[in-house]
Amino acid sequence: MNEDRLKLSNQKTIIHQEKRLSALKNLMVYYKEVSETVIGPFIILDKNLHVVTANLAFYQTFKVKKQDTEGKLIYELGNYQWESMELRELLERILPKHRQMSNYSVTHDFPFIGHKTILLNARQVDSKQLILVAMEDITAQVNLKHDSDEMTANLIKQRDRLQGLNDAKDEFISLASHQLRTPATVVKQYAGMLSDGYAGILTKKQMAMLNIVYESNEQQLEIIEDLLRVARVDAGKVYLEKSLCNVAEQVRAVISQQAILFKDRGQNVVVIKPAEDVMAFIDPKLMSMVIANLLDNAGKYSLPGGQVTIAIEQSDNQTIISVTDNGVGIRKKDHPNLFKKFSRIDNSLTNSVVGTGLGLYWAKKILDLHEGSIEVNSAHNKGSTFIVKIPFEPISDSRQKFPVT
Ligand code: ADP
Repeated sequence: MNEDRLKLSNQKTIIHQEKRLSALKNLMVYYKEVSETVIGPFIILDKNLHVVTANLAFYQTFKVKKQDTEGKLIYELGNYQWESMELRELLERILPKHRQMSNYSVTHDFPFIGHKTILLNARQVDSKQLILVAMEDITAQVNLKHDSDEMTANLIKQRDRLQGLNDAKDEFISLASHQLRTPATVVKQYAGMLSDGYAGILTKKQMAMLNIVYESNEQQLEIIEDLLRVARVDAGKVYLEKSLCNVAEQVRAVISQQAILFKDRGQNVVVIKPAEDVMAFIDPKLMSMVIANLLDNAGKYSLPGGQVTIAIEQSDNQTIISVTDNGVGIRKKDHPNLFKKFSRIDNSLTNSVVGTGLGLYWAKKILDLHEGSIEVNSAHNKGSTFIVKIPFEPISDSRQKFPVT
């Protein structure tokens, strides 16, 4: 009776094991099929890290043969090319603990394929009997990232070096201009004294020559002043002293300063403004210089007989001053360079007109300080309009709010 029972129990065990084996075989066929559909290298290990099977991509990537792979311990493959502390750590410690590991990269010098970084994704399946390992060769991406990191670091180094050179250049310009201003001022004084007759009456010829000396020296002083102004604004040494100003009065004052120049060129200046006063909270001295600069340019870059119009407008939240001329205009391609430092744009008048290419750069800096803007509308040979916008209430200081009178 007992023997019969034992036989029955053995038979049951055998049947159970056969069933399990058949299920495992089916599962293996399934995994193998799956592995072959995976594009990257893929291997299946048993729980003791022996290779059960691998896909074609694995053999091709790691240059190993099927007969030298199946049944072998993973570390032994391809003449021990997988023998790595890092991989051992992953497969023997991390994987059993977490049952799966995602995106672990292993960088290793493989004897047959060289230095590679392989991304591993592994998972224990079938009650930890099998381990599925998908691999991806990410060497190219890693190298690319390394190269781009190196390139970025180099670019940062170069930028810092250029910034250093730029600072040194600014400092040099500032120093040189300071040094040049003193002798030019002395020339101005002595030329003035000569023309005032302090050294005796001058002949007509001498006076004409002295006038040329005086005018050239004035131009030189203007250039030096431009350089110094830009150096100061670049060094962040310009601080606004704002007050509530009547814009039309400012414009009128600027026009009268330049009236002789416009008269000499036979050019006309027209002001268009609303009936009521337009008030703006600005630094009057600096903003007058900005308007003077735009008016000066409008006259300089227009032919004799031209007309300049200065329009003043007040909208809800800003004051707009636009200076329009019917002069030589500016080609579209040159617009992006207009407000850059030292950018003299070539036109039919640039050679005959004195300039440094600093006026608009400086004007933009002053408007930035006012949290305003300066824009241009211009076409070649059709004239230009420079538009200055000053916010009524600068965003950064709401205390500057003031009533409109
Ligand atoms: P500068 O007049 O000293 O050269 P700016 O910075 O004031 O320097 O102007 C830069 C350039 O922009 C000028 O060289 C000129 O070519 C161009 N430009 C400025 N204003 C006008 C204008 N109203 N019409 C035509 N060109 C202008």
